[in-house]
Amino acid sequence: MADTPGNRTNAPLIACHVCRKELSPSAVFTPEGVEYVQHFCGIECYQQFLAETKQGEEAGGAAKP
Ligand SMILES: [Zn+2]
Repeated sequence: MADTPGNRTNAPLIACHVCRKELSPSAVFTPEGVEYVQHFCGIECYQQFLAETKQGEEAGGAAKP
């Protein structure tokens, strides 16, 4: 691709928490109301994250200090 002068692409990319795909901040999916904020490329990766989180809670529960 051509490197266009004046094209502002210096916005920091955010990596999806699940698939590590790099996203522009405007395209990132950020769920609200969670304990800690993670970034996802879409609802599918978010749901996968939720599933893994639930599995961890059910399996462990001893992660708290
Ligand atoms: Zn993703």
